[in-house]
Amino acid sequence: PFEVLVIGGGPAGAASAIYASRKGIRTGVVAERFGGQVLDTMSIENFISVPHTEGPKFAVAMEQHVREYDVDIMNLQQATRLVPASEPGGLVEVQLANGASLKSRSVVLATGARWRQMGVPGEEEYRNKGVAYCPHCDGPLYKGKDVAVIGGGNSGVEAAIDLAGIVNHVTLVEFDSRLRADEVLQRKLRSLPNVTILVSAQSTEVLGDGKKVTGLVYKDREGGDIHRVALDGIFVQIGLLPNTEWLKGDLDLSPRGEIVIDERGATSMPGVFAAGDATTVPYKQIVIAMGAGSTAALSAFDYLIRTPAP
Ligand code: FAD
Repeated sequence: PFEVLVIGGGPAGAASAIYASRKGIRTGVVAERFGGQVLDTMSIENFISVPHTEGPKFAVAMEQHVREYDVDIMNLQQATRLVPASEPGGLVEVQLANGASLKSRSVVLATGARWRQMGVPGEEEYRNKGVAYCPHCDGPLYKGKDVAVIGGGNSGVEAAIDLAGIVNHVTLVEFDSRLRADEVLQRKLRSLPNVTILVSAQSTEVLGDGKKVTGLVYKDREGGDIHRVALDGIFVQIGLLPNTEWLKGDLDLSPRGEIVIDERGATSMPGVFAAGDATTVPYKQIVIAMGAGSTAALSAFDYLIRTPAP
């Protein structure tokens, strides 16, 4: 059995594995896709001390760093069930889709999240070519340009306020007849001179010239008219879905499905810790996920030295 078993091979999982392994304890990593969301990222400009890198390059460096340690990496494996230890300090079981099951005295869950997509023509084709999901990451690339934000919830309105300070103009597009964001955010948004708010607007297509985004088509849900807006970028902010469906019922999750953790990364199941985008941590970023992954691994180590095996 393992002493620390990490589920997930993104920034949080990689940091956990390195921190755990450096304690000299038997460490394993199970990942569906080692690298995580970073693999889908073009340029990364906010990883402190590295002014510019690319996602796939960053993912390779992360994997190489983990491989410098004695970590058992099980890539292309999906965890499907977490079974608590039968007695305090006992072995937690992780079942895999391939039928195998792994046992470990402690577990770090770092399964990350995925952005909900609009599911309209052009979105996939122009992903990273004008279609973006992370304003903190990609906002500065649109300095002085015209962008849209899809979604009028808190994250959409926050993104629009954030982007309005960087870009030339922001069009906020909401499907519903009104915005759902907190009143204080809506008031702030309406006070900005370079923002247009569209409600009852259904985005139906991302337009492009073959290389990059040139606009958005939307349908006015009241009148039924079809409109086009010329744009350089489209930020989709209709939800970040944590990869925690497989944990439902076994672990405390927030109403949004995020794993509830305390400041040490502990979950509601003894010996099980969690980190990164899959958790209730505020702000979903690489540096934050790595910090949280390190915290979770150190907490797992602390748990191991304080909890005798039965
Ligand atoms: P993830 O990176 O999501 O990794 C999750 C891991 O868990 C993956 O290995 C996955 O395969 C695995 N997994 C999931 N479910 C299971 C399962 N059931 N069994 C086994 N394995 C499983 N952040 C920045 O700081 N700067 C940026 O410039 C930036 N740009 C971004 C651009 C894009 C397009 C996207 C999508 C995100 C961007 N982010 C950026 C956000 C950043 O990528 C995430 O915050 C970070 O990757 C979160 O790390 P994580 O380890 O928590 O999760």
